[in-house]
Amino acid sequence: MDIEEKLLKLIKSKKKGILQNELWKAAKIDSSKCSRILARLEKEGKISREPSDRTYLIKLAKEKKEKTKNFRLLLIGDMFSPCTGCALECVPEQCATLSDWVCRLEQ
Ligand code: SF4
Repeated sequence: MDIEEKLLKLIKSKKKGILQNELWKAAKIDSSKCSRILARLEKEGKISREPSDRTYLIKLAKEKKEKTKNFRLLLIGDMFSPCTGCALECVPEQCATLSDWVCRLEQ
């Protein structure tokens, strides 16, 4: 396990975060090396650093959750809108495809 992995593992083990001055001692590395690695990890978005007294509170960065796409918004009942992905020149009032789809919704 390299030192970066070791630091991440230590950070992960503390749910409320770990103070930077505790972290470098726990990892058995000097403070400046720890600081350089943490700056890199922060830049990569893997951790966050919040000022705390005269040191930093280090936490794992929250994973960005991808927004779940609600494809049900494209449906009326179980029917998919004909307009989705349509490349036709659009005049909805005159569109037979749309009219057919709307008529089938009423069935
Ligand atoms: S109304 Fe008709 S032409 Fe317009 S986007 Fe929908 S399906 Fe396509």
